[in-house]
Amino acid sequence: MFKKLFLRSFLAATATLSMAFVGPVAQAEVAAEGHAITAAEIEAVAQQQAAPPPGGWQTPSNRSYYLLSSCRPYASAIRQGAAAWAGLTEGGGTPVECRNSYIRDCGGGSRVVGCNWGRGQRIALYMGGVNDDALLAAHEFGHDWYGHSSYRCAGWSSPSHVMAPSICNGPTLTNDAQLAHHSG
Ligand SMILES: [Zn+2]
Repeated sequence: MFKKLFLRSFLAATATLSMAFVGPVAQAEVAAEGHAITAAEIEAVAQQQAAPPPGGWQTPSNRSYYLLSSCRPYASAIRQGAAAWAGLTEGGGTPVECRNSYIRDCGGGSRVVGCNWGRGQRIALYMGGVNDDALLAAHEFGHDWYGHSSYRCAGWSSPSHVMAPSICNGPTLTNDAQLAHHSG
């Protein structure tokens, strides 16, 4: 599932923003392995990394969250998203609310599918508003620590990829990019 979704994002990204996409991956690999890397190697590595590592990506601090009753039907996807971050545990902390329509009280446009107010004061998710609910949850949890990255479309290859300002290939016919915003 991760790989399929990632590949779709990857193809879209390479078509429009290949340098922006390849850049961070290339830098990370050079830093980690200490040698030059070919485009083919970058692509292979990116596909292997199309999911968080076991235990999640390291975070600057530890945070926690709990699900409000509206999120009960989506608990599995939300927990999958939370698992992207090593410093995030369930129980106390940020209340997470689920809605079934665009989020109007966040600011930032009319197609907002997620909001993290005040870096973890509270989170709202429009589950079903995009084609990857876990990615939406991972993104909003990521705002506990991080702002948006320069990627165009979010994906699972890295924390920066998760923190793109849009989740693309959404379910609507009129516009495949749906913004995931936050404030505060
Ligand atoms: Zn965001």
